[in-house]
Amino acid sequence: MLAGVLGFPVAHSRSPDIQNAAFRELGLDWRYVKLPVPPELFAETARALPGSGFRGANVTIPHKRAALELADVRSPAAEAIGAANTLLFADGSIEADNTDAPGFLAALGEDPAGLRALVLGAGGAGRAVAWALREAGAAEVSVWNRTPERAEALSAELGLRHVARPEACDLLVNATSVGLTGGEPLPLEALEPPPVVVDLVYSDGPTALLEWARAGGSRTVDGLEVLVRQGALSFERWTGREAPLEVMRMAASSSQP
Ligand code: NAP
Repeated sequence: MLAGVLGFPVAHSRSPDIQNAAFRELGLDWRYVKLPVPPELFAETARALPGSGFRGANVTIPHKRAALELADVRSPAAEAIGAANTLLFADGSIEADNTDAPGFLAALGEDPAGLRALVLGAGGAGRAVAWALREAGAAEVSVWNRTPERAEALSAELGLRHVARPEACDLLVNATSVGLTGGEPLPLEALEPPPVVVDLVYSDGPTALLEWARAGGSRTVDGLEVLVRQGALSFERWTGREAPLEVMRMAASSSQP
């Protein structure tokens, strides 16, 4: 059986190492491969996968919306977020799901009900995280974005607050790409590190945001844990087996991007 990740580019993806380690651990004769596909070939490639032995696929930038549109069946989460990161090929139909949102909540490791959450970023990841926090009963979900109009639009659509600058909260989530390649830091000078900080961005060591948070005594969750948790949920959708989380974590941290 085959699975893979559809993206463009996709060379940097750690998902093959994570998923193949899980297949090996459970003794499954499966293989997970990178599927670099440009946007104009996405739909026809995705539709051809089941006929080539694929049971499922992950979907990453820039295809998450196209994946949702292509599907015959859409999960409520994928529908509400407007993006799918997981496809399941079953009985001649394509099912779309979004495991970014529940994967984030699983990685968070505590119930966000009643917490004041601040999400930095109003792109695809910010949208999934903000929706997940709202659904999980956070007392308040605020969104800050470098381009304020995007935070305003997302907040209006999901019924959240948008803020002109980061402000005090119980839970801070970085869903911008800051930390990936250096550049402008996040505007957090006026803020004390809150009790919990999650950085969706991952690198080989702690990001500058997580260093700031740890120095202030925050509990932190890194982007690799979020990546592993969304991958584990995709794995379970395709195989029907419980994902071996510890093996997947080890593969994620030793994987070379
Ligand atoms: P996206 O849709 O392209 O959105 C990028 C976001 O980053 C936008 O909010 C953008 O703000 C913001 N941004 C970029 N440069 C910035 C800067 N210098 N200062 C402040 N904000 C900046 O990307 P995405 O899919 O949401 O992904 C965002 C990040 O999350 C990526 O680094 C991705 O790798 C990571 N991610 C991780 C996981 C995981 O499993 N760990 C899952 C999904 C995503 P503007 O609107 O102003 O451009």
